[in-house]
Amino acid sequence: MRSLKHISAGTVDEAWSLLRKYKGKARLHAGGTDLLSTLKGEILFDYPEALIDIKTISGLDEIREDGDSLKIGALAKLSDIAKSPLLGERYGVLAKAARSVATPQVRNMATLGGNLCQDVRCWYYRYPRHIGGPMHCLRKGDGPCLAVSGDNRYHAILGGKRCFAVCPSDIAVALAALDAQIKIASPKGERRIAVADFFGTLGNSLKRDEMVTEIEIPRATGPATKQTFLKFTLRRPVDFAIVSVATIITMEGGMCSDARIALGAVAPAPVRARKAEEVMKGRSIDQKVATEAADQAVAGAKPLSMNAYKVEITRRLVERAILSQDN
Ligand SMILES: Cc1cc2nc3c(=O)[nH]c(=O)nc-3n(C[C@H](O)[C@H](O)[C@H](O)COP(=O)(O)OP(=O)(O)OC[C@H]3O[C@@H](n4cnc5c(N)ncnc54)[C@H](O)[C@@H]3O)c2cc1C
Ligand code: SF4
Repeated sequence: MRSLKHISAGTVDEAWSLLRKYKGKARLHAGGTDLLSTLKGEILFDYPEALIDIKTISGLDEIREDGDSLKIGALAKLSDIAKSPLLGERYGVLAKAARSVATPQVRNMATLGGNLCQDVRCWYYRYPRHIGGPMHCLRKGDGPCLAVSGDNRYHAILGGKRCFAVCPSDIAVALAALDAQIKIASPKGERRIAVADFFGTLGNSLKRDEMVTEIEIPRATGPATKQTFLKFTLRRPVDFAIVSVATIITMEGGMCSDARIALGAVAPAPVRARKAEEVMKGRSIDQKVATEAADQAVAGAKPLSMNAYKVEITRRLVERAILSQDN
């Protein structure tokens, strides 16, 4: 790893002023579990001059209910999200997604904000310097997308436009099902954005001096709501998703009154399967409904040359999540 300055920010204001000072040549450093591996591999052509440690900012790691919503600070650790009794009881899909991420060691370092802002896992994008990288590609601003004509077995089957790298964050999938908003702050003020809109075609929507400070989730519904997170991986127990599915299903009088289904690792952003959700509303849940909804969830899929298998996995995972008795 090349040498660079490491500066601890005591406040959000200080982090902004350091970002301004370094004019795009500094990166925010939270848990470092993704950032440091991208720097060690020198996968990007731009190398920062400084890292701004934001773990030293106090008060950004709280998990608390506030009126009609749940607020989680960007510096909350995934391990705290995984074992929070409040989340386990009322926002189980998020706790389950957090438990599915990596290992206990990684979860003890990794933060919520870092998980949402982590870089994509496309193997062309991540090709390290010590074996011949970095590689140019469209996402890096130079050249075509190498996955289109290359090995695209882990890439997008839905919603890919110019870059087909999938969103690697499991947390984002649960947050999309929960209708969460991401709070982003900069010296110009605050803005909020829905989780799915945060992930753009060639990177997230953060501007140079912006920082994720909090996630806000509308209050979860009552005990008749069943929340499930399922993840298909190649290697257990530690791996990124080939496909993941988060469902939140509310039943009233034996009928589904509300259904939310989010798909992960199939597109550049988490995807809400709206047509599948509509299939379920007003009906009792059985195999027929689950199959119809699962078919709708993949109806718009456009697999690349090597990843049609992900369509069938998505279909089966949606079906299984809907029929799951897990609470
Ligand atoms: C072995 C291993 C297995 C993994 N498996 C999974 C998995 O199964 N599922 C999954 O979802 N993830 C997985 N990950 C990724 C892991 O979850 C992320 O590395 C982690 O969540 C990143 O959080 P961090 O705090 O360490 O971020 P950092 O590494 O510090 O930062 C990552 C990026 O986010 C930016 N950033 C951090 N915080 C903020 C903020 N508040 N505002 C703006 N930008 C910010 C940084 O500048 C950097 O660009 C795995 C990682 C490893 C090492
Ligand atoms: S999928 Fe995206 S990151 Fe991967 S090679 Fe194509 S443009 Fe680059």
